[in-house]
Amino acid sequence: MEKEFVCIICPNGCLIKVEYEGTNINNIKGDECSEGKDYVKNEITNPLRVFTGSILVENGDFSLISVKTHVPIPKKYIKKIGEITRRIKVDAPIEIGQVVASNLLNENIDLIVTRKIEKKKSLSS
Ligand code: SF4
Repeated sequence: MEKEFVCIICPNGCLIKVEYEGTNINNIKGDECSEGKDYVKNEITNPLRVFTGSILVENGDFSLISVKTHVPIPKKYIKKIGEITRRIKVDAPIEIGQVVASNLLNENIDLIVTRKIEKKKSLSS
């Protein structure tokens, strides 16, 4: 199989052409450094991505808060993490970096918030 990848490891954005069978690379061209080769190998065997999404907030000055996984996770888990994320609600106040769900899918995947949310001020105070 032949495929092209744009390496995202550095701003050079090398276009890497690769011939492979299964997880074996037979020929690779366009990689300017060994990191490009490693990137393509990972893309073929176990591509990783940081999941980003949002969850519901109760009693906050906003009703949604952005979250992300604490590390890049296998791409095959992104959809399942998205489904789980839609069912999570947290109570304000919330601090940046707070873990709102941990060990998702029993794969040591944590979700952390990426902004701060204050508790909603009541009209009477
Ligand atoms: S192959 Fe190397 S030089 Fe090219 S984009 Fe990737 S990391 Fe940068």
